[in-house]
Amino acid sequence: MLPLVKPYIAPRDEMMPAIEKVLYSGYIAEGEAAWNFEDGLKDFLDNPNILAVQSGTAALHLALLSLNIEPGDEVISTPMTSEPTNTAIAITGAKIVWADVDPNTGLLDPESVREKITERTRAIMLVHYAGMVCNMNEFNKISDETGIPIIEDAAHALGARYQGKIIGSNSRFTCFSFQAIKHMTTVDGGAIAFKNPEDVAPARKLRWFGLDKKVSRLENDITRAGYKYGINNLTGIIGQIQLKHTQEIIDQYIANGKFYDGTLKGLSGITLVPYYKYTEPSYWLYTMKVEDRDNFIRLMESINITASPLHHRSDTHSVFADSKCDLPNLEDWYNKYVHIPCGWWVDEETRSKIVETIKRGW
Ligand SMILES: *Cc1c(COP(=O)(O)O)cnc(C)c1O
Repeated sequence: MLPLVKPYIAPRDEMMPAIEKVLYSGYIAEGEAAWNFEDGLKDFLDNPNILAVQSGTAALHLALLSLNIEPGDEVISTPMTSEPTNTAIAITGAKIVWADVDPNTGLLDPESVREKITERTRAIMLVHYAGMVCNMNEFNKISDETGIPIIEDAAHALGARYQGKIIGSNSRFTCFSFQAIKHMTTVDGGAIAFKNPEDVAPARKLRWFGLDKKVSRLENDITRAGYKYGINNLTGIIGQIQLKHTQEIIDQYIANGKFYDGTLKGLSGITLVPYYKYTEPSYWLYTMKVEDRDNFIRLMESINITASPLHHRSDTHSVFADSKCDLPNLEDWYNKYVHIPCGWWVDEETRSKIVETIKRGW
């Protein structure tokens, strides 16, 4: 079966000598290789204010900690995501307030978010689900009008664009994941991109127990307990080698996504997702709504293609029971959406076969 997700690893003859060199160098903790990777991310994301971290979850947690979010606070979020978006909020003790999605896209609906704002709202968590970019024109307006900061969970959206610029410097915080199945993987890893340079130094301390790496251990004074969220040199070297290929790989996701956009348009039984003004998705998964989803999935299975909704809505987990509320648009979306493979492993012949099969009906 052709999978929905698959790790891209740079060629062995590039990757293995580089790993071997670092692994036996005598220094495998956070050092040159980690920092060079971080510099590579700064170039890639066109933002000098970046911290590489152990995971996307760590990036989200650091963003929330940077805002001093704690019990009694509220964070508006979406259930239409992978669980870590919301477990990261839960571990701060803040209350998650669900907003509804736009039924056309499955992405958070700005109008619903506006309705959920209270005097306790401390952040809005946006997820660029499956590589589609949220309605940033509207969300920027909300943030400007209310002063409430936005955290973008861009774990699915490396390489996506807003107003022509790569995602990673629009909102106060943008969080990326380099976990095994994302556009770019370092086996595990992540990054947090900051809009305000002054947010970097405190987060850098929280990344390493609360210690300041620039000051000697003996002179260090921890004023706020931090975490062990930094990356080691092995992750760093893997990331450096991976980054050399990342744009090319993302371009393949995008080319396949655009092919589906063009060829599936207007077919009966399918509703394509409209993309918001000034946004360009990076198509981590190809997303659409289909009639009779079970039969659609069976049709894809019959030609050895995985099709699936993939994610479980977060609001049904017991741990989020206190946040339960009616989300009628999510209901509608959740019963119809499906993903088909769209990544670098889908070649031209396969994507044509997928479209031809869909055209025959299910
Ligand atoms: C993968 C993912 C994360 C978490 O990333 P990890 O690197 O696995 O911690 C967060 N949010 C979303 C939407 C994800 O898909």
